[in-house]
Amino acid sequence: MHELGIATAVLDAVRTEARRRPGARVRRVGLRLGEVGGVDRDALTFCFEAITRDTELDGLVLDIEHCPLRHRCPACDRTFEVARFETQCPICGCRDTVCVGGDELELAYLEVDDDGPGTPGTEGPQ
Ligand SMILES: [Zn+2]
Repeated sequence: MHELGIATAVLDAVRTEARRRPGARVRRVGLRLGEVGGVDRDALTFCFEAITRDTELDGLVLDIEHCPLRHRCPACDRTFEVARFETQCPICGCRDTVCVGGDELELAYLEVDDDGPGTPGTEGPQ
């Protein structure tokens, strides 16, 4: 299952980050997900909850940011969201547009609590 692989990769990244911050607890992880990736976000959320359950990351929230498909027109230099796979430029009608977004699959952020018995937080604004 595609989503399980992604959830596992996200979790690996979270664990790597958590190891660098002893005493910190990761509360929330943000993921940017492009719409053309073919990833079912409900399935991804489900997989994520399943593989974090009863682990040290139980309760970790996966926050998925949806990234629509976007093309840029080389003729008028506008960027537009593609609806129904219509990639023609809505401004000038140019058909030779270039995909510039919508296939994202990347970590956006980690939200970390530094409430452990360690040094005072250095995680920036709270
Ligand atoms: Zn155009």
